[in-house]
Formats: sequence, structure tokens, C-alpha cells
Amino acid sequence: MKKSIVVIPSGSEGTGRVGAAESRPRRPAPARPVPSLTLGMTCLAILAILASCTRRETATRVYKNAPVIIISIDTLRADHLPAYGYKNVETPNIDRFRRDATLFENAYSHVPLTLPSHISMLTGALPPDNGVRNNIGYPFDAARHETIPSLLHKNGYATGAAISAYVLRGSTGIKNAFEFYDDAVEVRGGEAQGELQRDGATTAAIAERWIGEQGDRPFFFLLHLFEPHSPYTPPEPYKSRYTSSPYDGEIATADAIVGQFIDDLKRKKIYDRAVIVLMSDHGEGLNEHGEAEHGIFLYREELHVPLMLKLPDNDQSNRSVSQPVGLIDIFPTIAALTGITPPASLRGQSLLATSAHRSLYAETLYPRIHLGWSDLHSLIDDAHHYIKAPRPELYDFPHDLAERDNILERERRTYAAMRQQLDAYGSEMQAPSNIDPEEAKKLAALGYLSAATTQANGPLPDPKDRIGDIDALRQAARREVSGDVAGAIADYKRIVAANPNFADAWTKLARAQTSLGDYEAAIESYKRGIQVAPMLSGGNALQIASLFLNLGRIDDAEKNAHLAERSNPIDAHVLLGRVAMSRRDYVRAEAEAKAALGQQNDDRNAQVLLAQIFTEEHRFDEAMHILDALAPHEAKQPIALADFARGDILARTGHPEQAEIAFKREIELFPAETHAYANLAALFWFEGRRDEARQTINLMVQKNPRPDARAFAARTLADLSNQR
Ligand SMILES: [Zn+2]
Repeated sequence: MKKSIVVIPSGSEGTGRVGAAESRPRRPAPARPVPSLTLGMTCLAILAILASCTRRETATRVYKNAPVIIISIDTLRADHLPAYGYKNVETPNIDRFRRDATLFENAYSHVPLTLPSHISMLTGALPPDNGVRNNIGYPFDAARHETIPSLLHKNGYATGAAISAYVLRGSTGIKNAFEFYDDAVEVRGGEAQGELQRDGATTAAIAERWIGEQGDRPFFFLLHLFEPHSPYTPPEPYKSRYTSSPYDGEIATADAIVGQFIDDLKRKKIYDRAVIVLMSDHGEGLNEHGEAEHGIFLYREELHVPLMLKLPDNDQSNRSVSQPVGLIDIFPTIAALTGITPPASLRGQSLLATSAHRSLYAETLYPRIHLGWSDLHSLIDDAHHYIKAPRPELYDFPHDLAERDNILERERRTYAAMRQQLDAYGSEMQAPSNIDPEEAKKLAALGYLSAATTQANGPLPDPKDRIGDIDALRQAARREVSGDVAGAIADYKRIVAANPNFADAWTKLARAQTSLGDYEAAIESYKRGIQVAPMLSGGNALQIASLFLNLGRIDDAEKNAHLAERSNPIDAHVLLGRVAMSRRDYVRAEAEAKAALGQQNDDRNAQVLLAQIFTEEHRFDEAMHILDALAPHEAKQPIALADFARGDILARTGHPEQAEIAFKREIELFPAETHAYANLAALFWFEGRRDEARQTINLMVQKNPRPDARAFAARTLADLSNQR
């Protein structure tokens, strides 16, 4: 007898009926086979058989207008929670929540990447259906896809989210699904995009404040915590408590934040009447199959996630469900619980009407896009896990959860059946690229779509055969950080020679070349990165644009910045603003800065740009006002050109001593900003400190050993010498 949720009789608030839709392998869904009318059998009898065979009719109690909250704890492996039997960490708050909730023992993510996984959860649609298949390069179109918040909003809900990681920033398109979306995560230089995050307690405080402001209005809130994601740096007391497993220390930290958040909901008298889902977007490799983090493989440690559902009035508390379920099931569940009809296209089924005969789809295009290896696709049911790869794998789930023994050769029939089932999802599942024709035209115009792009058509390596290459890349990166940039460049070149489709290695090579001042070579490397992974073109094109700007090739900078308008609109507008500045077109520059601020009103680079435009227009007070407002952030995290802009205003308004301090600070923090040296040298020159002026120019060349910097230095010195 399989375990299942006890069916609650319909309450006085009304009844919603949720039928367990069969898992549908493709869209449009193939019609369920209807047996032909057999002689002597009434329609009614057939319907009764159908109901008993294919769907268990369950009545879900409806909690109309109940608050709905999703707590997403990023990168949390189910098997690292005590609620799932883990012994090495204490999570008293999640344990307490679990006792109020139904726990899903076998819940799976559909993609081990933060943005696509959250989008699949919010849309109730698989990544190929909702169009978001990677953290980068696949913007979300909220106008085309219904989401949990957009549907609830149409039914009178206020909707909000507070997130803790840059990968979920609003400009990916995700914020358009919400009324309120707080994503103020500090963007710092030099850090991998995936590591940009903010403290979960800060995010939870924003959630608590917003929830407190809703009064009696029904609301939906998504609280996203990033603690367990790398780097594993738990604060005290968890740091000392979990020295041997800082990942667990991060889980304990997240647990404390969840505890405080839930306490706040209880104080506000919301907890008891709320529908609360606690989940994770994916797991973490922890080197069980050679992957330290997540994104490359589809093994259980990457896909098996915690999932708990707490209903109002303690309904169905402390229960467990063993049937396989997926994150796409959350949408139909919330729709059923709030009595709202979900879109007919949803592939998922309500968690309150689970079925044993379920297959859960998962995919990752990350190895293909970033590493030049094959993409992976998988199907999980209650007995097996099939991974479609160049060398396919099949695991016996109840008996080999560690996925050590590939039984594919012994279980050919299961393999054939699951392969057929996965193939039925359709060829659109396999296509990695969703470059729109407009984008492709722009790429082709700049020579970024070429023969190199088609290399990907040959057989691609199996990620499990090449996972060691990640180590080679890491070692090269460590060499770079240790200061041996030339050595690292040689390593990166060896890596891309062995695997020319390794887009991330091209990017790392380009960054290292940039840091050595070899801008021309860096531009070439970024270009190769675009050629092998056109869906990553936005970020690379922005880098190319900013290098061209530094080289004084304004038209080239502009063309490349335009390439990033769709994928990285804020940064693209800031760059286009700088292009306009270089042409002294301040009207255009201001329009671009404001376009960036229109996307995100606290974008710091756009604010600095605006301050610089105002300075050129002699609107010094307004300019200084912007910079002063940025100062508290600057103290925590330096912003490129902010000190330069401040120094410029101070110099022009007769405060040379303060200007000198500001320019020196810019040079110290951002040694590649050549204009800071030039302005400081000019300041010295006019004060008669000619030696210091020359030393400053020498320092510019020393820190930027490039022809363009040497030419700029010579030009600056000549200009100064011509002044008297
Ligand atoms: Zn994640």
C-alpha cells in the first residue's frame, strides 16, 4: 500500500477539486487513451474504471485568500537535513516546521541551476517550455508565461520577493512576475557571478517588513536564501561548530534565519493561516561524482531537494509522502489550495494528489554551453534514474541511491522504455540555443557567428569523462590569483587548445589578458568565447565594449554594447552612456544613464555615470549629491570611477587637497582607470609639483603596460607641458 496524503473532507470555505493529471511528456499533451466502448458496458462504468486506474479523485480543501509563502534555501541537498535522516547538522527550526508540514521524501529539481530552477518552480513549466535553461543567456519573458505570483495577483493577491543572489537579479526578467522585487545584492569586481550574494538575514528582514505592510490583503511572498551556496563561509557560532563541514555550517545558518522569519510570521499571526512551502532549487555535488558544486551533472545529489508543504490550521501536519514529485508541482498545488484555476498547460500535478507512476524530467545545458561538453537530460521515477549522456546511465533507485552501479547493460528493457519516454519530450528539449533571429543577425554582423560556432555539431565529450578538466581550470585560476598571471595565461591557452569549445576557459583567458593590459588579445579571446557559446554573448560583448572604450575605439565599443542590450540591459545602457560621454554628447549620455536607472534605480555604475555627466554640465551640487548618497555603499564595496568623479568635482570647485585624496584612492582601488592618473598629474602640475606629476604619469604606464596607455601618458604630458 503506497503512502499518500489523507484526503480532507471539503471545508466550509468551499471545495476545489484536483485530479492527478498524468505526467505529460510533451506539449500539447497527448490525449489519454480512452478505451473503446465495449458492448454491455455503460459510459458510467468506463468512467469509473478510468477514475480508479488513472486518477485518484481527491478533494483538496480550499483556503481562499490564505497568505502563500515560499522559502527557497538555495543549494540545499535533501540528504543534508535531519528531516531527511542526516545526522551531522542541527536544524531545530526546519525540524519544527517539518512537524507542521507534509514532507516529500522524493522531490526533484528539473535543472541544477539557480535561475532556471526558480523559473521552473514559479511557472510550473520545464526549462525548455519556459525558455530559461541557463543562469546566463536565457532571459525570462514574464509576459508570455503565467507564474504563481502573476496568477495570484490576478486574483487579488499582493505579490513580492526578496532574493539573496545576483543570479536571480530582477533584470533577468523574473522581477516582472512580481509587484515588489528586492534584489539589492552588491555587485563587486573580480568575483564569479555565482558568488555574489547577500546575507539571508538581510533578505528576511526585507521580507518581514513587506509582509507587515500588507495588512489584511492576501499576499504571496518568495523568500530566497543563498547561505548553503559556495563559498561556504558560515558566521559564528556555526563556523566553529562545523569546522569539518562548512557546507553544513551554512545549512545551520540558513536554519536560524528560517527560524527567525517563522517567529516573525507567528508574531504577526500569519503563520497559522498561511500556506508555506519550504524547498531548495537544487542540491550540491560535494565531489560524490567528481563535481564539487552543481550545474554539470544530474546525479541525485544535484537533483534531490527538500520539499515541505505547511497548510493552514495545521492540516495534514507531520506527514510524509514517498511518491516522486517535482518543483513544477508547486504551482498547481498553490492554485488548488487557493481555489484558483491554473493554466491548462501545466505539466505538473498537485502535491495533494500524488501518484506513484510519475517520471520527473531534468536537464542541464551548462556543460554544453560553458564547457563544450554534451548536455545531459534525465528521467527519475520511483524505481530508476536514467541519465541520457553520450554514455548513458541507469540506476536502481531504492537500492543504489549513491548511483555507483550503472545497470544499463543488465536492464536493457527498462533502459529502452525510459529512453523512449525521455525522447517523447521532443526535440526542442535537446536544442541548446534559443538565440532569436535579431540577436543572430547582430552577432553575424560583428563576425561572432562563424564556422567555429558549428564545431558543436560533432560528438561532444561526456561530462563524466572530462570532469577532471574543471580541476585544471581551477588550478590555473589559483595560479592567477597567486600573482603568476603569465603562467595562468599559458595554462588557459593549453586548456582551450585541448577543448576549443570551453567557453568559460576563453573568458578566464580573456580576463587574465585584460589584467596584463593585453586588450587586443583579450578582445580576441572574448570573441572566441562568443563564437563557441553565442548564448553567452551578452556578458562577453560588454567586456569587449569596455575594452574598446579603453582603447579609444568608440564605434566598436558602441556596436558591442548594443549586443548586450537584451541580456544585460543595465550594464549595456551604462556602457552606451560612457560611449556618449566620449563623444561629449551629454544629452544622450544622460538618457542612457536614466534608462539603466529605469531598470534598476539603485544601480551604482549608472549613478556614478550620471554624476559625471552632471559634472561636465557644471551641475556640481547635483553631481556631489549623487556621490554622497553612494558613499555608505562605497565604504563597504568600492565602485569604479566614484572616487574619480568625486575628485573631478572637487578639483573643479577649488578643493585641490580633497581632490588629490580622491584621485589617489581611485588609483589604489582601480589601477586600470588611466584618467585618474591624468587628472592627478594635472592637479600636481598646476600646483607646480611637476616631479610628482611626472611620477604619476610613470605610475600610469607602469600599472598599465599597454601601447594605448603609453600613448595616453605621452599625450597627457605633452598637454601639460604646453600649459604654462
Ligand atoms: Zn541555486
